[in-house]
Amino acid sequence: MTPAEKEVAELCVELIRVDSSNYGDGSGPGERAAAEVVMARLAEVGIESTYIESAPGRGNVITRVEGTDPSLPALLVHGHLDVVPANAADWSVDPFAGEVRDGYIWGRGAVDMKDMDAMMLAVLRQLTREGRRPRRDLVFAWLADEEAGGTYGAKHLTAHHPELFEGVTEAISEVGGYSLEVDPSLRLYLIETAQKGLAWMRLVADGTAGHGSMLNSDNAVTEIARAVARVGAHDWPTTLTPTVRRFLTEVADAFGIPFDEDAPEPILERIGPLVRFVGATLHHTANPTQLDAGYKSNVIPGQAAAVVDGRFLPGHEDDFFKTVDSLIGPKVRREFVHHDIALETTFDGALVESMIAALKAEDPTARAIPYCMSGGTDNKTFFADLGVRGFGFVPLRLPAGMDFASMFHGVDERVPVEALQFGVRVLDRLLLDY
Ligand SMILES: [Zn+2]
Repeated sequence: MTPAEKEVAELCVELIRVDSSNYGDGSGPGERAAAEVVMARLAEVGIESTYIESAPGRGNVITRVEGTDPSLPALLVHGHLDVVPANAADWSVDPFAGEVRDGYIWGRGAVDMKDMDAMMLAVLRQLTREGRRPRRDLVFAWLADEEAGGTYGAKHLTAHHPELFEGVTEAISEVGGYSLEVDPSLRLYLIETAQKGLAWMRLVADGTAGHGSMLNSDNAVTEIARAVARVGAHDWPTTLTPTVRRFLTEVADAFGIPFDEDAPEPILERIGPLVRFVGATLHHTANPTQLDAGYKSNVIPGQAAAVVDGRFLPGHEDDFFKTVDSLIGPKVRREFVHHDIALETTFDGALVESMIAALKAEDPTARAIPYCMSGGTDNKTFFADLGVRGFGFVPLRLPAGMDFASMFHGVDERVPVEALQFGVRVLDRLLLDY
């Protein structure tokens, strides 16, 4: 076993034991303590790092490893140090104890994403101890605040310290690189190359206020209710982006079933619980989530509002908003609560080739395929704005049938120790060879 394989579980446990819950309102413990663990482990092997606190307690750690070939662009490897909160009463173990049981590390962050934080640390420590150097510059970043939009992490760093990312053209990070076993001779590894865009929209209807007992043909509550019902009930047509088309084609081929563009459901059935990651990537979605109107039973309010969580496909943003506008009608206006771009890159190039080669070297049954995720990561906006091409690649060889998607933000989140050991072997190859 290599040193990285030996220590990766221990590093992951150490990070899980630091509660870095992000409540999204600034009330949490922050990432400082987790960042201190990272810095201490780097310092132990002589690696200097930069610590940036964007607000009290909101810690980010960055370090750059110089490559042997300065003509090559740099690769960013980033992970976030915050986790979503965990309600201990729901769990079978203490979510912040980092318990190792039945070959798994249990705890909040085990897959999202202290697993990768630890793998990054273990591989970097190993490279440094052994005096090996990568070909290109590697920028390692452990970031704050991903779970609440990145304001104190990726957003702060890219806005105020862009020099840290100088020369970076590509990045790898969370929610991709995990395996789906088709049969013992074939494992698919899903690499994330696309993300849906996000449009949290506030819909507002203005009407004529008045007494609830009188005639009123301009009722804002009626108007917003109609608009929300139309949006919520809309049947969005299937629109296959290049990534989703490739994903479905590859899955169909792997399972030996036909690819019918008009009826892709049987293909999705084959991927089991992973459908939670990709099921919503075949079309736009717009789910009403909040309603806000009125204050008294017999008073018709002058205004009524609602919030819709919209997610649009890469390359089809205009079409999404055109449809939303026609559904809500001319009497309802829409404003953004939050708006974020969609991303899509092609599944090709030297980095993709290196990821495939590293996976195959450690798992001869590996077949890498691209996919689009319905949510978002730090690769969105901030790093994309710097012109960085981002991939979801946290290599994990998972046991057949493991419900990996449910681990994210889930109860009893856990990761196999062997998967982490596989991950550091793959990352070591990738980061050295690329
Ligand atoms: Zn995450």
